[in-house]
Formats: sequence, structure tokens, C-alpha cells
Amino acid sequence: RAKEAGGNRFALADPDSDARAITRHGLTNRLPTALERGEFFVEYQPLVRLSDGSVRGAEALVRWLHPVHGVLGPDHFIPLAESTGLIVPLGRWVLVQAARQARAWQLPRDDGPPVRVNVNLSPCQLEQPGLVTDFVAVLEEAGIEPTAICLELTETALVGAGEEALRPLRQFADLGVDIALDDFGTGYCNLAALRRLPVTTLKLDRSFTHGMQHRPVDPVDLKIVEGIVSLAHTLGMSVTVEGVETGTQAEHLRGLGCDTAQGWYYARPGPPERLHALSLVDAT
Ligand code: C2E
Ligand code: MG
Ligand code: MG
Ligand code: MG
Repeated sequence: RAKEAGGNRFALADPDSDARAITRHGLTNRLPTALERGEFFVEYQPLVRLSDGSVRGAEALVRWLHPVHGVLGPDHFIPLAESTGLIVPLGRWVLVQAARQARAWQLPRDDGPPVRVNVNLSPCQLEQPGLVTDFVAVLEEAGIEPTAICLELTETALVGAGEEALRPLRQFADLGVDIALDDFGTGYCNLAALRRLPVTTLKLDRSFTHGMQHRPVDPVDLKIVEGIVSLAHTLGMSVTVEGVETGTQAEHLRGLGCDTAQGWYYARPGPPERLHALSLVDAT
């Protein structure tokens, strides 16, 4: 076992760190070829319109089916994929899957309201020359409109971003692609910066609504979210809340004017077939 763990002899004395060492070692070695081996898959989590509870679309969330460790969530490998550059082909692969899925959901309801699929975009991808051209090609190939995709970027990825990084985002926005500021409230996005960004949706981080899970709810929490919603709406942005786990939260968030919600209360991320069960196809 010590040999497997890279010859770390301390590993033998501490089975926990041994396991961690093997895990890290195994992930680092296997990640570069995981894409060509077909070990990734995408789960979808519904986005629900708070005013009427209808499913408007879903966020695509990548998973890695590791032959030894089983299903690994993105937190286990996205940072590694970003530091090794794999995120560029991986992110493109997720977009291809999401675009095909959007088409598959849209088809049966033809002229119905558009299905929107959200795709997370890594800041590394923003630096790729030809990103926008390639994006357009992927969507054409899948047979969907740019308005069927929402690109999610984290606040931390955008705050320090210079004009160079913002250019592709403006081009996406011009194409009608929705741009969401993910995990909003966890970074340091000041109001002036927010105004400068081509963002159409704020995705409120779940830390904001955590305190609304059960009664009694802290009135200050409510005021803060109310203020953010009002600011977003003033700037012409819609508000999505993530991490909604209880009916109490959902009720408060609807009352505060939030537009869309996502969380375990509605559905955990799952295979695309599950969205048919949630009647995405029939939503009007
Ligand atoms: P995110 O974009 O903020 O996605 C939401 C995360 O919250 C997901 O974690 C989701 O499973 C989790 N979640 C959803 N509802 C609830 C809830 O009610 N309670 C709690 N506690 N959690 C909830 P996941 O799938 O582990 O993804 C983690 C992060 O990995 C994502 O955060 C996103 O930043 C990143 N990610 C996922 N897929 C991709 C991808 O294709 N490309 C890139 N660049 N990043 C990705
Ligand atoms: Mg996201
Ligand atoms: Mg998020
Ligand atoms: Mg988050």
C-alpha cells in the first residue's frame, strides 16, 4: 500500500492520510484521460419559477464516474481540471451535452415556452480565443437558439476581470445568451462593478437563505435579500436563489420577489429523464 500511495511511508501509520494520498494520486493520474474514457456524465437540477412553481429549465452539473471511487462531485475535480487545462475540453463537452438536452426537452413542446439550460463556465474558458465562435457552432449543431442557454460565472471569476475577459461575455449577451452571476454574495462584487457586467441574472448563494430554512426567520436576513432583489430588479436583472431546501424558505423567497429557485426542496440533481416526471414539457 505504501508503494501505491507513492512510497509515502507515513501513510502506513495513518490509514486516513493513506487513503487521501491514494485518492489524490489516483485522481491526478486518471483525470487527463477520463474524458476520452467517457467517465463523465451530466446531471440536471430543475429551475423553478416561484410565482407558479413551473419548471423553466435546469442547471447542468458534471459528475465523474471514477472506476475506483465511484461518483465524484465537481468539487473533487474541477479545481484540478482548471489547473491542468482539462477544463477547456471538459467544459465544451458539458456544453454539447446540455445543448442536445435542451433540444430534446424543447422538441415535444415545439412552440411552447423556451426551455433554458444553465451551464457553468470556468474563468479559464473565458480566456480561450474563439470561445464565442465555437459556442455558436455547438448550438447550431444541436439545433437550439443561443437564448436556450444561460452561462453561469462565479462572482469571484468576474470581479477582477478586465475588459479582455469581459469581451466574450458581451458577445454572448449580444447573441441573447443569458449570463448569470453564480454564488452571488460570496465574493466582493461592489455595486459599481455589478453595473458594468453584462449580467442578466443574479444567483444568490445559499448562505443567504440558509437562515430561512425554519421559523422563526431572522428579519435582518429577510431585509438583506429584499434589498438585493430590489437592486437586481432595478438593474434589470432577475434573481435566482440556490439551495432552497424547505417550504418555509420557498415561501419567504417568493414573498420577497425572487424570480426563480433551485434546491433539494424541488429536486436533487438527477438524470435528464427525471425532468419529464417533473413535467418540464408541460410547463407553460
Ligand atoms: P454551483 O454552480 O453553485 O451549483 C450548485 C451546487 O449546489 C451543486 O453542487 C448542487 O448539487 C448544489 N445544490 C443544489 N441544491 C442544493 C440544496 O438545496 N442544498 C445544498 N446544500 N446544495 C444544493 P455540485 O453539483 O456539487 O457542484 C458544485 C460546483 O461545481 C457548482 O456550483 C459549479 O460551480 C461547479 N460545476 C459543476 N458543473 C460544472 C461544469 O460543468 N463546469 C464548471 N466549470 N463548473 C462546474
Ligand atoms: Mg452554477
Ligand atoms: Mg451556484
Ligand atoms: Mg453555490
